[in-house]
Amino acid sequence: DSWPCKGLLEFNNVSLRYRPGLPLSLNELSFTIQHGQRCAVVGRTGAGKSTLTTALFRLVEIEQGRITLDGVDLSTLGLSDVRGRQNGMFILPQDPSIFSGTIKSNLDPFSSHDDEDILKALDLVRFPGSDRGRRILLDLVEEGGSNFSSGEKQLMSLARAMLANPRLLVLDEATSSVDQTTDDFVQQMLRSQFPNTTLLTIAHRLNTIIDYDKIIVINKGKVAEIGPPSEL
Ligand code: ATP
Ligand code: MG
Repeated sequence: DSWPCKGLLEFNNVSLRYRPGLPLSLNELSFTIQHGQRCAVVGRTGAGKSTLTTALFRLVEIEQGRITLDGVDLSTLGLSDVRGRQNGMFILPQDPSIFSGTIKSNLDPFSSHDDEDILKALDLVRFPGSDRGRRILLDLVEEGGSNFSSGEKQLMSLARAMLANPRLLVLDEATSSVDQTTDDFVQQMLRSQFPNTTLLTIAHRLNTIIDYDKIIVINKGKVAEIGPPSEL
């Protein structure tokens, strides 16, 4: 079927603790992001920003509340729908998982894309060496991507996102290892290449989110403030 068709994300009273006995890391967190909106989450260290993504991708079970995407309660879906669906939800983590193999096997582990599309994704993210053409696809990648820089690994992850073409794209400090020029370029690319994608960005550089539609300030697992950047 065609879920998710739009990318309307809703957190409704979501509470989560990592283990019984630990304090709540999310405490009745509620917010809505309209489809196609760009929303940034900010807050101090330990506020619960990454935990919000943990709940979204069901890495930890929530204890109370509901998270829906286009009205579908994510807890009713299989994990492969939440994490691996083409045109579904996609997260760009700070430390992307890179496997031993080739550039191609890392970007397209299930051989579901044409070489042309993989090359196009590498080219769009300006992956170093993408000007060498299709030879780059067979470049060797060591376990954990140890023969690439942190920034290059983040660009590989971004190329994966281009291929997944998600309705909901989540970035958790996804460009923290690239330089300012590259970050500016990535932010610009997010605008041009994902025009209809709902964007949830956990931001570390405030200048990158100044033109976002909505900013959510999180404190102690709760929404402290919410609104357009001009009002905060
Ligand atoms: P930062 O800006 O440093 O990335 P954050 O806002 O992403 O911070 P979280 O990682 O969401 O913060 O952490 C929220 C709270 O949950 C913190 O009190 C943290 O100690 C706790 N926490 C995070 N991950 C775990 C975990 N795997 N097990 C137990 N507690 C955790
Ligand atoms: Mg975090």
